[in-house]
Amino acid sequence: MNRILFAAGLCLVPMLASAELRIFACEPEWAALADEIGGEYVESFSATTALQDPHYIQARPSLIARVRRADLVICSGAQLEIGWLPALLQKANNRDVLPGSNGYMEAGNSVLRLNASTNVDRAQGDIHPQGNPHIQTDPHNIAAVARAIGERLSLLDPANTESYSEQLEDFLQRWRDAIMRWEEMAKPLRGKRAITHHRSWVYLERWLGIEEVANLEAVPGLPPTATHLGKLTSRFSDGGADFIIRSPYQDDRPSEWLAERTGIAAIMLPLTVGGTEQATDLFSLFDEIISRLLKALDDG
Ligand SMILES: [Zn+2]
Repeated sequence: MNRILFAAGLCLVPMLASAELRIFACEPEWAALADEIGGEYVESFSATTALQDPHYIQARPSLIARVRRADLVICSGAQLEIGWLPALLQKANNRDVLPGSNGYMEAGNSVLRLNASTNVDRAQGDIHPQGNPHIQTDPHNIAAVARAIGERLSLLDPANTESYSEQLEDFLQRWRDAIMRWEEMAKPLRGKRAITHHRSWVYLERWLGIEEVANLEAVPGLPPTATHLGKLTSRFSDGGADFIIRSPYQDDRPSEWLAERTGIAAIMLPLTVGGTEQATDLFSLFDEIISRLLKALDDG
């Protein structure tokens, strides 16, 4: 729900405008971004929450109903949702939002994706064969997707093109200012070394100059094994990393187990909007990610 519209509805009867476009986002960051650019002309819904692994959810009937009514589907793509989105699209039977139509967009196509895997990894079950789909952890990627969403909204609802362009420019201006602030804040993180549970943070690491030295998952998508954790314990027994990072929906035991044996700080970072109480929108999401990393350094 658009909060501004909702608030306006309480004091102005009848409501001046109703949402023009219904947006079905696969992940909370794209729903939040569509709200930034679409404002009162869109109504956004996210299929997943920050407490769910977007690789794996159920294609529930309530989601099928949402896709059936949607004007625009926005997903990360690059096979992030391959386990559930094709079934949703097929069952919803809404031709306007099928891949290839104006009502379907993959955010991952707006950016250069990292880590397209080799055939060897794919055979071992790598779930990122088309490059890493967790693109939202670099704010420059968010800006690129914002432009793509702006274009799509204008295409689907040409009557409000001017509003979409204005809202896009306003967002990009505030976003550029925020990026400068984050880059200044994050300077102490440059050159630090991270062990991550899943390869969810490669874009953040590239942006801030953090080096990824290991993953708790031996292959993306396969849960950490005792053998692999044992190897990591020996490898990092004398340090060699500054943080062990996990997301809210990941089991905390492997990272806490390794932290206990190596003395390296284990931290939870919100991977998207809603991942912590403070990460209520895209701006506070990055505030939270950077503050939590800095706090781990200070505590270490
Ligand atoms: Zn993944």
